[in-house]
Amino acid sequence: RGGLVAGPPRYYANNVSHIQENASSEAESDERKVRRAKRFSLREVAWTITTLDRIRKCGRTTNGNVADGMAAVVMNGDVAHWAGFCTCGSIWGCPVCAAKIRAGRADEIARAVANHMVRDGGTAWMVTLTARHKKHHDLAPLFDAVANGWRKLMSGRAWAGDPKRGQLGERDLLGVRGNIRSMEVTYGSRNGWHPHLHVVLLLNREDPLELANAIVRWDRVWRAWMKKHGFEPSKEHGVNWTKVTAPEEAGEYIAKVQEGKGHLGSELARGDLKAGRFGTLAPFELLDYFGRTGDMAVVPIWHEYEKGTFRRRAITWSRGLRAQLLGDEAELSDEELAAEEVGGETWALMPAESLKAIRRIPGLQARILDTAETGGFVELVNLLTAYHLAFEIGPDAPKADG
Ligand SMILES: [Zn+2]
Repeated sequence: RGGLVAGPPRYYANNVSHIQENASSEAESDERKVRRAKRFSLREVAWTITTLDRIRKCGRTTNGNVADGMAAVVMNGDVAHWAGFCTCGSIWGCPVCAAKIRAGRADEIARAVANHMVRDGGTAWMVTLTARHKKHHDLAPLFDAVANGWRKLMSGRAWAGDPKRGQLGERDLLGVRGNIRSMEVTYGSRNGWHPHLHVVLLLNREDPLELANAIVRWDRVWRAWMKKHGFEPSKEHGVNWTKVTAPEEAGEYIAKVQEGKGHLGSELARGDLKAGRFGTLAPFELLDYFGRTGDMAVVPIWHEYEKGTFRRRAITWSRGLRAQLLGDEAELSDEELAAEEVGGETWALMPAESLKAIRRIPGLQARILDTAETGGFVELVNLLTAYHLAFEIGPDAPKADG
């Protein structure tokens, strides 16, 4: 029960995963707790300002997987989870689902790139394409300019060659196997939205001269395209190439959780956003700032973010590449990845009125899981009782030996 999906063996490429993760040390376990608490609390903030119903239901409304409309605290190894809640599956707008989806994608990409590099002897490059722009551009047209600029690079005679004249294009000269790319966006308190593209370019061989030609052409074409559309990159922006040395790097580069640098200080004050005190913020840092200051200036920005990213694909593989690298491994949608429940031992079942009460206390949802992990079943019961929360003891709750 609980929509458990049996997938291929997983190898977690980065540190964003919180599912099926066996905490190997106390420090890692503490770190995971901090990340989870942060994501849960950011989702609580998102509930208050989102325009999207499914985000408001994520981790709040039960999904019927647990009997009688309850939700359950489930232990999987030494990691506790909530089971029985709806998930929104939004990689853009939900801090909890985004982390889960991105962990799955990073893992998938790392395994694909490992097959390309190790099994097939190819090389890979991480290429970042950015655009500078003036403030107050809407997000959607900026995204479109970046996506169309990418299409421009990947088309025409320079790229595809001229078969009639027997001329090879960059695609063949460079030995391009395909690419995996992600659309990213940050918010600058001075320049507004700053979308960029992270591309992992997979090559069958490495020819320094052809690579040099491509680096020069991409920079020229990208700048010309952006300038034509009013978003000329600055000198330090534009196109940046870095060679992949390990497959995990590629997974992180494409799918790493956009949580920012954590540079919002504790002395945060309302108005700091308008005063341009942050430089650049990752989208979820906007939630963080709003949660801590209540600065209503965030609300229209967040709404524009939700509108600009609505139904927009975040991570894209070039045609046929996934099948080449991962065979017929099933491809889960974002919604399916987010809804995956790892299963485990059901320790406690909580009825609707308790879930409602828990929601009213910031951070309690995460703290219940922390307590089960750190203190075990007895401490969990202790905590629920202290908050006067009705619950049923789950079928798998620990029993006395003998
Ligand atoms: Zn969600």
